[in-house]
Amino acid sequence: MGLFKKVRLLFHDDLCPSCMKSMEERGRQLYMLPMMVGHYDSHASALYYKKNLIKVYRKADIPTGQYACGIIAYKCLDCGFRKVKVSVFLPVRDQEKYEDVFYFENGELDDFLEF
Ligand SMILES: [Zn+2]
Repeated sequence: MGLFKKVRLLFHDDLCPSCMKSMEERGRQLYMLPMMVGHYDSHASALYYKKNLIKVYRKADIPTGQYACGIIAYKCLDCGFRKVKVSVFLPVRDQEKYEDVFYFENGELDDFLEF
């Protein structure tokens, strides 16, 4: 993969890595995680998220000092490539302090997500 392609992929989550076309967003959802500020533990396993994510509808529903997680699922309409982006952040006032971003590209979260 050329550098230009890599850099584009880094800044455009919705680009398909195989055909470089824009992928369709299948859905997105906000969750909270049972972790408090100062006690963040990085988890890269899909199983952790399936067990611990608690669905919320607004950022305001997340108690102060508690971690949040945003999930966006993409699908390429051209080649069928699928990707799920998991972003873990701490909501601080109007900002989001990002701790981790993970991508699952093998359907690891498909049986959990409702989209
Ligand atoms: Zn594609």
